[in-house]
Amino acid sequence: MEKIMPPSSIENLRRANQIRLFLPFFLFLFVLFYETWEHILILGELKFDIHWTSEILFFGILGPAAVFGVLTYIIRLLSGQMDVSTELEVLNRTLEQKVNERTETLAERNADLALANEELKALDRLKSDFVSLVSHELRGPLTTLNGGLELALQDSSQIPAKSRRILDVMAQESQRLTNFVQTILDVSRLDAGILELNPGPVAVEPMLQRAADLVFASVKREIKWELPKEIPPIWADEIYMEKVVCNLLSNADKYSPPEAPIEIKVKMEGENLSILVTDYGPGIPTQMQDKIFKRFLRLESGDRVETQGWGLGLYFAKALTEAQDGKLSLQSPLDSNGEVKGSMFTINVPIAKEVPEDA
Ligand code: ADP
Repeated sequence: MEKIMPPSSIENLRRANQIRLFLPFFLFLFVLFYETWEHILILGELKFDIHWTSEILFFGILGPAAVFGVLTYIIRLLSGQMDVSTELEVLNRTLEQKVNERTETLAERNADLALANEELKALDRLKSDFVSLVSHELRGPLTTLNGGLELALQDSSQIPAKSRRILDVMAQESQRLTNFVQTILDVSRLDAGILELNPGPVAVEPMLQRAADLVFASVKREIKWELPKEIPPIWADEIYMEKVVCNLLSNADKYSPPEAPIEIKVKMEGENLSILVTDYGPGIPTQMQDKIFKRFLRLESGDRVETQGWGLGLYFAKALTEAQDGKLSLQSPLDSNGEVKGSMFTINVPIAKEVPEDA
């Protein structure tokens, strides 16, 4: 490989080589003249005897030859060192070049990714707007349909039994569709950050009672309550906090056997309050516990019963709780050694701070 050296190093090396040649030659000439002059001084004439010859040989030839050898060795060492530093320099430059190239490529990629991200966000906004528009447009006709069916069923004595059954099913399905459309509308508003929440002090016990009445109105289920004597109000949006509790209660009902009880507990934890909803159903596998709060995720396998749902309940419940400065967490199974199957969802929310009377 051809050596590439900086010009200053090449010049230094050339000078050292010149010194290596000239210094021994100069020493030889010096010794030759000095010894000859010394002999003429001592003997009074020029005589090339054994003394003169041996001194010339020793000091004039062997001495400069040794100097030449030592200089050659030193130059070789120096040139080796220069080679190493030159190679290091070249390596450094190559590395620097590669780092620069990579940095440029990374910067370009980052810019591309940022652009793609912006485009995706715009598409997502478009999708949310579309979903929101469709749900909004559907709500009107559905309200009319629900109202009409309710009216028709009010005077059900006039209707033949078969038609009444059909109307009942229609009313149920229409109500289900209305709930779905409302959920989609709320979820897309929440995602877009435009869901209007009105937080304020909320009385916990009546809110829990309303949610339980709503979910278990047409279901026979044992509910075990464990509430402290005095529960301070929480700071939340009453309607949407009730919705979170309803989602958890309706899941507990959907996914646990009808004979198993459902527990509703309230615990105080410093400046926060926890609402715990426990069921003794199959529980949620550990590896699914992070994913379960994602949109449209449903577990419908193994020994699970087929249930109706859209996989939005837990996503919405978690997002709504967090939008109210709270946390929603899950424990499943119910004990540490995994023997008690079931799920315990905990809503942890801030307690409303008392407003001073003179405020
Ligand atoms: P949906 O109930 O409409 O399917 P959710 O988001 O409420 O949607 O729940 C997601 C999934 O989590 C459900 O499909 C169910 O498999 C599982 N799940 C939710 N709650 C429970 C529960 N209490 N016990 C067991 N599995 C549950």
